[in-house]
Parts: sequence; structure tokens; C-alpha cells
Amino acid sequence: MAIRAVYRDDEGGRSGAAEICLKCGVCCNVAHSCHVMNDHRFNPRYTFVYDCLASDKGASNPNIWLCVSCHKCEETCPYEVSPVHFIESLKRDAFDAGWVHQTIRTEVNQIVTTGFAFPLTGATERQRQTLNLRSLPPPPLADLTKIADKTHIAEKLREAKQ
Ligand code: SF4
Ligand code: SF4
Repeated sequence: MAIRAVYRDDEGGRSGAAEICLKCGVCCNVAHSCHVMNDHRFNPRYTFVYDCLASDKGASNPNIWLCVSCHKCEETCPYEVSPVHFIESLKRDAFDAGWVHQTIRTEVNQIVTTGFAFPLTGATERQRQTLNLRSLPPPPLADLTKIADKTHIAEKLREAKQ
């Protein structure tokens, strides 16, 4: 049986068109496709994409956060279903509902408070010097704080469930 689902468009509204996944498994099973398929819970008969798209309560499925939005499934799907768009939409729904995986909370907090997606160490600066690269400029923390305030991201993260 095919899976029908809808996703939000870029403006945040619901896409009117339902798209259909035929559960052929190509996006998860061709060589160098979805990396999540390395997880032992998924297999050629029950793929990561089915796990995310076939549930009525996809937004509360913690596995949606395993998707790294690499878009390989979009490239490999022969039917142009683009499961990554559905999964990203589920993540947005999950965020709005307060279901935010701990790694995302940590990552967002790291970006808002330091301006970098990963912690910088002295080794970073030494490597840049070795490569004759300029020192990194100070991060725009005031702007990041404004964005976090305007989008209520800090508030949402505080209220988020694990
Ligand atoms: S975008 Fe997500 S679902 Fe698609 S291949 Fe990458 S990790 Fe897998
Ligand atoms: S998203 Fe495309 S490739 Fe993946 S199972 Fe559905 S129809 Fe097949």
C-alpha cells in the first residue's frame, strides 16, 4: 500500500498536493543512499523512510531526528517523492509541539550562545595559522540573540519535552 502524506511549503502553509510514496525502498537501499539505514532497526523490508512516513504520529517519532537532511533520498527516488521534505515537515511539527530531541536542543543552544555550530578549541586557531588563514571574526552574538528572541526559540527550547 502506498503512503500518502503532505508537507508544509516554505511559507509555512500546508502544501495542497498530497504526494505518494510507493514503498519501493529504493531511496534507502541503493548503494550510498540513506545513511540511517545502517541502524540495525531498519532493513530492506522496513526502511527508515517507512518508519517516518507511515506513522499517523510521525512528529512524535524520535527517529525523525536521525535524518540529516542530506537529500540523497530525493536524488534516488524514481518517483520524485522527496521524503526529506516530509521528514523536515515532521521535524517542524515536532518542534511546534514541543518534541525536540536533546541533540537539537544542544546544537541550537551552542549556535545561539557561541555563534558556531561546534565548540572551537585552541587547536582550531593553531590550524588556521598553519594554513595562513585569518583568525575567525567575533561571532554576531547580539544578532543571534535578537533572532532567538524574535523567533521565541529559547522559550520553545525551555518548554520542550525530551
Ligand atoms: S535526507 Fe534523511 S531520509 Fe533522506 S537520505 Fe538523507 S538522512 Fe536519509
Ligand atoms: S520515497 Fe520514493 S524511493 Fe523511497 S520508498 Fe517512497 S517511492 Fe520508493
